[in-house]
Amino acid sequence: MRPGQGRQPVERAMAFLYHEAMSRLLSYLGHLVEEHLPQLLLLLEDCLAIPSFSGQEAGVADLLLGFFRRHHLPAARTPRGSVVAVLAPPELSPGGLPATLPEGEARQRLDALLTAIRGRHLPLLAFNAHMDVVEPGEGTAWVYPPFAATVQNDRVYGRGTCDMKGALAAMAQALVLAHQAAVEHPLQRAVMACFVTEEEAGEGLAFKEILHDLQWRPDAVILGEPSEMQIARGQRGKLEFFLRAHGKRAHTSVPEVGENAAYKIARAILAVEALDRGEFRTVGPDPERILERSTLVATSFRTIPFTKSSVPDMAEAHVTVRLARGETLDSIKQKLFDRGGWPEVTIDPVVYRGKSYTGLPAEWPACHPAWEIPRHHPFFAFLRTAVRDALGREPSDRIWPFSTDGVYSAGQLGLPTLGIGPGQEAVAHLVDEFVEIGHLREALALYAYLPFAPAPDDHPRFEVRSPTAPDAR
Ligand SMILES: [Zn+2]
Repeated sequence: MRPGQGRQPVERAMAFLYHEAMSRLLSYLGHLVEEHLPQLLLLLEDCLAIPSFSGQEAGVADLLLGFFRRHHLPAARTPRGSVVAVLAPPELSPGGLPATLPEGEARQRLDALLTAIRGRHLPLLAFNAHMDVVEPGEGTAWVYPPFAATVQNDRVYGRGTCDMKGALAAMAQALVLAHQAAVEHPLQRAVMACFVTEEEAGEGLAFKEILHDLQWRPDAVILGEPSEMQIARGQRGKLEFFLRAHGKRAHTSVPEVGENAAYKIARAILAVEALDRGEFRTVGPDPERILERSTLVATSFRTIPFTKSSVPDMAEAHVTVRLARGETLDSIKQKLFDRGGWPEVTIDPVVYRGKSYTGLPAEWPACHPAWEIPRHHPFFAFLRTAVRDALGREPSDRIWPFSTDGVYSAGQLGLPTLGIGPGQEAVAHLVDEFVEIGHLREALALYAYLPFAPAPDDHPRFEVRSPTAPDAR
């Protein structure tokens, strides 16, 4: 329908003013990005110097809390030890929280701030980055020291640069930048930046504490896992299980009186291989169809005890599955059983039983569904436009080959979730891991712009009314 003739000049004037305001904002942010980039690199350097393996993130968490305090941004530590910082309009959040505030009280203050943001009907966007890194492996294989920042060839080298302290530092610095810009430019949404623990050990575990246990529920989530600053709009699910077989011990000279558990495990492993091949035959290797195909890999197996002198009475194997869209532990079990000839072998999901650095235990089964945000989703349209505005280029999109905290926000809660982060996913977890400084600059520019970026008129919170969403809001 065409608007009335008389309104057209008014609409044109409005559009002109809007574009004027947008270009003023973008050029202002552009200046701030160059000013803040050296600070981002310093923060990254400080983070890299702390080896923060899963369950040992205290140093990075303390560093971030101190950083936000210095920049007058309210932040608090969760019971699991994650750090959450909030960017809100200046009138709601006049300063940071004092260093002397007990942790419980800091959390209450943050809770009250988030309630005030909801009271204003201001949309809330969450940033997600994990503080933990994987072990460097054979340290001598590194050309650059893993726990220091080495800048060379426009890259920063060190364990966690790509996965994902680069994104973490960019998100933290972007919050400071946006906090400064919010004095002159109105925020379109508040941001809750979540710097979580134990993602490498149990993806989703610490993010669940924030989104579910503390009930700090955003409208949408940006994951900063590496994507070469292109948009990641989903991933396959992840399932790990043990195959376990029991038999009867006997002397090797009379195997017929025993029952060999190794043979049972061997048959189960061959069934796993057959199912994996069957999935490949049905769907093929097309990356566009990656969410349609589960892959199954038997990674290791052993008899218990591991000895050469008897018919073994116990055996187990470990299997890692990447789940296709809609697949679950039960559906994979059924497919294995349906092939016929399944031996007397149980399938038990692996459970992460770690302890956070704050002393909280966890029991987190490694069984997570696939998730995907379609290209026609309003949140995807929002992020694509934001990349064009802030970075001046058209982003491509992909499905991540690895697992992220999106298994909880999107897979379990059904929250609009997308990834965009600095670094190449192929160098994550490797020796001489690095992140491009060009990616860090883009990440800083984009993350700082997102709180100001206009949302689609008809979807201010990127909501899609879908009766199938697990937790439609
Ligand atoms: Zn990661």
